[in-house]
Amino acid sequence: MLGAMQDWPMRVTHVVDHAAREAGTREIVTRWADGSETRTDWAGIRRDALKLAQALQALGLEKGDKVASLAMNHSRHLVSWFGVAGMGGVLHTVNPRLFEDQLEYIVNHAEDRVLLYDAAFQPIVDMMRDRWPGVEHYICYDPPEGSDVRGFESWIGEQDGAFEWVGGDERDPCMICYTSGTTGNPKGVQYEHRSTVMHALAGLQPAAFNFSSSSVMLPVVPMFHAASWGLPYAGGMAGIKFVFSAINDPAVLHELMLREGVTDSAGVPTVWLAHFQYCDSEGLDLPPLKAATIGGSAAPRFMIERLMKNGTRVQHAWGMTETSPIGTVGGPSGNWDELSFEEKVDKTAKQGRAIFGVELRTVDLDDPTKVLPRDGETSGALQIRGPWVVKRYFKAEEDAVTEDGWFDTGDVGILHPDGTLQLTDRTKDVIKSGGEWISSVELENAAMGHPAVAEAACVGMYHPKWDERPVLFVIRKPGADCDAQGITAFLADKVAKWWLPDAVEFVEDIPHTATGKISKKDLRERHADYALPEAR
Ligand code: ADP
Repeated sequence: MLGAMQDWPMRVTHVVDHAAREAGTREIVTRWADGSETRTDWAGIRRDALKLAQALQALGLEKGDKVASLAMNHSRHLVSWFGVAGMGGVLHTVNPRLFEDQLEYIVNHAEDRVLLYDAAFQPIVDMMRDRWPGVEHYICYDPPEGSDVRGFESWIGEQDGAFEWVGGDERDPCMICYTSGTTGNPKGVQYEHRSTVMHALAGLQPAAFNFSSSSVMLPVVPMFHAASWGLPYAGGMAGIKFVFSAINDPAVLHELMLREGVTDSAGVPTVWLAHFQYCDSEGLDLPPLKAATIGGSAAPRFMIERLMKNGTRVQHAWGMTETSPIGTVGGPSGNWDELSFEEKVDKTAKQGRAIFGVELRTVDLDDPTKVLPRDGETSGALQIRGPWVVKRYFKAEEDAVTEDGWFDTGDVGILHPDGTLQLTDRTKDVIKSGGEWISSVELENAAMGHPAVAEAACVGMYHPKWDERPVLFVIRKPGADCDAQGITAFLADKVAKWWLPDAVEFVEDIPHTATGKISKKDLRERHADYALPEAR
């Protein structure tokens, strides 16, 4: 026999309903690309989301239809997150930095019928229109004055907002995100209402985002990147104030953080790096943030140290599009107060612990049937399972999980006895030297601590005796002076001797993926003719 509690399908519209009811006057600030600013609040977001849902229905959209957004962070994008889901639709947040072929593929593959876009991406829309035959309507979030494109505000303004959310099963899809497709075509991950609500609830806990109603969050992570790490939903649940910037200029972000009393921010390491560089060049202190979430790629030690010295709690998180995305988050551990500053930095440089709801395990890289011990030493292929982890990619014929239900992340890591995850590499990027593994990521992070290094990337290159040996590609900071010997000497006491790179090459540029991470694939392609002295 079942229990007798009330039915309450976990639908994301509950989030905006709750925020509008319980935190209706909490502000949502947007700094637009043209420099103008608008202010609304959670009640306003809900009002507009109802109008958007109505306007989409008026266009003939039905439950299950897909609406794409090609947009940065702003309040109208937030409205779309709830409005599209509220009419029973699925929002497809498109990464505008994808290459043309990928843009063509994902919009057609998702079968998007409407595309909502920022004026800044008009050139992409003009270029792609003919290649997106299924897109019936284009609506611009911020049409330039005098232009004849259909503008979002006036379009939803035609509706009265007398609308009831379209209900349904909590396992209906509400959003789709594509992976950036480092191998083959991008793959779509369809988030459900239920998985999204559960993920956001888990993200709220003190061990994760630690939001309260007094939090003021400026998410630098774009809303198209892995659902902005679920922040809009978790933020709505806690009724926080959001400050959005439609451009990622550190000067703008810095000014907004100070003026709007921002307490929390989140972004990939390169974003923080850019902010440091801006503050250094202008002689400014870092903004007085209470918490900074860093994820998407490993947060280098020096970055953690600097933020912690600034009094900012660093939440180093690991996840992926396939995991909604939060898997682990690092925050103060049980014995935090007993740790020295150095130990705290060491701990934070690892990727934190699994939040409630997901489970992790590592398996042998050569024999995936062998589950490895959580001993803080043995590294292996990282697998994850839980209610917000992908089971099957959109339109795929087969499940993306092992027979016993685990998703293989493609990451390599070590699990510690206290639950901490320490990522050491991607399966494809680990360097195999003489049958032993070398972590390219650890070498990069160590090199990033050198005062003259702006960015470093490490890849394995063919070696006749050892199979592969590490080569470090380095961009020098402007005006800085250092040579290969200096870098190697700097690394000598930070990594095992046999890990030291066989060569350090200075370059002007290191390729990045559409989500701002170092693209090892492109780096390898760019240096395809590279040969170590021993292999020449
Ligand atoms: P993409 O950038 O390929 O679109 P994701 O954002 O889903 O996709 O990337 C997920 C990957 O990013 C993870 O599998 C992992 O390799 C890497 N990653 C995410 N967070 C961290 C972290 N804190 N430390 C190291 N690597 C990370």
